[in-house]
Amino acid sequence: MIRVNDNYLKLPGSYLFADIAARARAFRQTLAVDDVISLGIGDVTQPLCDAAVAAMHDAVDELSRVESFHGYGPEQGYDFLRKAIAEGDYASRGVKISPDEIFVSDGAKSDTGNIVDILGAGRVAVTDPVYPVYVDSNAMAGRAGDYTGTRWSGITYLPCKEENGFVPQLPSEKVDVVYLCFPNNPMGTVMTRGELAVWVAWAVEKNVLILYDSAYEAFITNPAVPHSIYEIEGAKRVAIEFRSYSKTAGFTGVRCGYAVIPDELTVDAGGRTVRLNELWKRRQCTKFNGASYISQRGAAAIYTEEGRRQTKSTIEYYLSNAAYLKKALGEMGLKAFGGTDAPYLWVKTPDGMPSWDFFDILLRQAHLICTPGAGFGPSGEGFVRFTAFGRRESYVEAARRLKKLII
Ligand SMILES: *Cc1c(COP(=O)(O)O)cnc(C)c1O
Repeated sequence: MIRVNDNYLKLPGSYLFADIAARARAFRQTLAVDDVISLGIGDVTQPLCDAAVAAMHDAVDELSRVESFHGYGPEQGYDFLRKAIAEGDYASRGVKISPDEIFVSDGAKSDTGNIVDILGAGRVAVTDPVYPVYVDSNAMAGRAGDYTGTRWSGITYLPCKEENGFVPQLPSEKVDVVYLCFPNNPMGTVMTRGELAVWVAWAVEKNVLILYDSAYEAFITNPAVPHSIYEIEGAKRVAIEFRSYSKTAGFTGVRCGYAVIPDELTVDAGGRTVRLNELWKRRQCTKFNGASYISQRGAAAIYTEEGRRQTKSTIEYYLSNAAYLKKALGEMGLKAFGGTDAPYLWVKTPDGMPSWDFFDILLRQAHLICTPGAGFGPSGEGFVRFTAFGRRESYVEAARRLKKLII
């Protein structure tokens, strides 16, 4: 008899966005409505920038000729991209990261999900609300205890509430690993350099590993917000940083991202000092054959002058969508957070209404789809998330409909 990994059987049935899609589909079909605007799932809408497109076309041409063909590449990524990252994302901000500490991948979802492969037993903490990948990947590895309807018994949830500016407090119990994502998905909020420094100092003191998801780094406009956790003294000893080109440059379908694991990040394994990047390298070489040459050429083009200019302008477009919607929500008397350093708005439901009820009102009355905050964890209750990744026309129309809403 085949035994399955029964940790999978403990996972709650469906994926949040599948639930939302099913409700929207049922609504469209029963009422024959065809003007539903989705501001729910966080997929980008603007096409790839010209610099990345040209680089990828060239890469395909190279692969089409015997003299310049590339087969399997290095599992950790091509040097041209790792050097561009070390220079463009780190050295340019005064942070010294060597290309050898950079591991190119097919995206940050895989990396943040797979990283549990190199971790042993220990207590995991997540901010709440949370990007579901962190929790589910620990559950699949049997490190989350049991699911109790809203939370996992073996995971420490760190509430991010309006009262504390959506910044988590240090855990009072002992934890071994903590996931931080700033600028945050789903809240669209940030941590300042000073706030993050508190976490780094705590992690150094208590020997905690910080898994820092920086997928929205490119959206930061506030100079008080660090672009990398390594801007903070001591962070190289305690943190892995994850980045992605998905939101930065519309690579959601192209697939490319990377993880940084500094040489200084070591653990004591029974008297032997082990570098985490050696374990990750071993893991990637065994289970991953590298991101595609074409994707990596496209990613490298983002670091050119034109690439930077073009991606910046798309990011400004998304941030202006956020500003537009935030203003409209404010005029209705709704409180919206985030949206200035991230492409998400975290909107408080009127009179503490449950987030799925507000989702239903927005769908029925305004034909708008948002994401109910409760789907991201217990502290998401009472909030909904709007993405700014849509097209401007959608926000203009959404604002018009919101004004007519009767709550
Ligand atoms: C979108 C997103 C990612 C990563 O996406 P990939 O497309 O897999 O690179 C990672 N973390 C967060 C928080 C995200 O929202």
